[in-house]
Amino acid sequence: MGLIRLNAVEKWFGEVQVIKGIDLEIDNGEFVVFVGPSGCGKSTLLRMIGGLEDISRGSLEIDGRDVTAEPPSKRGLAMVFQSYALYPHMSVRDNMGFSLKTAGAPKAEITAKVDNAAEVLKLEPYLDRRPKDLSGGQRQRVAIGRCIVRDPTAFLFDEPLSNLDAALRVEMRLEIAKLHHRLKATMIYVTHDQVEAMTLADRIVVLEFGKIAQVGTPKELYERPANLFVAQFIGSPK
Ligand code: ADP
Ligand code: MG
Repeated sequence: MGLIRLNAVEKWFGEVQVIKGIDLEIDNGEFVVFVGPSGCGKSTLLRMIGGLEDISRGSLEIDGRDVTAEPPSKRGLAMVFQSYALYPHMSVRDNMGFSLKTAGAPKAEITAKVDNAAEVLKLEPYLDRRPKDLSGGQRQRVAIGRCIVRDPTAFLFDEPLSNLDAALRVEMRLEIAKLHHRLKATMIYVTHDQVEAMTLADRIVVLEFGKIAQVGTPKELYERPANLFVAQFIGSPK
């Protein structure tokens, strides 16, 4: 059974339905990418999984537990956003350890977890710096580090690289692929960028106006697109 299960999930904003009955299972350790044009519902779907938006209809299970009505803090997930709001007055170390500190974790445990995340993300030389003294890529690493220390059931990424310049985007994409390989963590990643989707995903979910147009491996989508929309979006010659 999947680690994360969406059952007939719908989202309505007033009279407008933006997510139209999504059924999906995500396995433990899988890297799943939600891709589709702007406005198709990627962020809304991710935010419903993370608990930042209510699920209007349908249900969500994590690890066999129905979490549809649970607040974000009880879902065991960690979100990385496009605008990675770091605390400007805190060092990198304190930014990364903050959530553990507020949860009341012992100091030695916080130090050990931050050191481990810093090692994974090659942030060791920067632990005493403030965010303003870091590059864009380093800041993004700190934002990911804040998630790693919490040892989440899954990482949720919403277009985490879209504020970076092209060269850095490629570099960070490789970093995220390595991170997935190393942590063997479940990752759900939203992007409108086909290349990002094709290079990162174990499985891609193509969304079209709040519905799943197709789910498959990058190879399956490329070789056997279900319809013209998928073919055009993925760029294969159907
Ligand atoms: P994407 O991330 O794929 O660009 P979104 O999930 O942000 O798309 O948005 C999907 C649709 O839902 C869009 O039409 C958007 O305008 C609408 N939408 C998103 N958030 C709200 C909201 N809080 N209130 C009303 N409509 C919203
Ligand atoms: Mg979005």
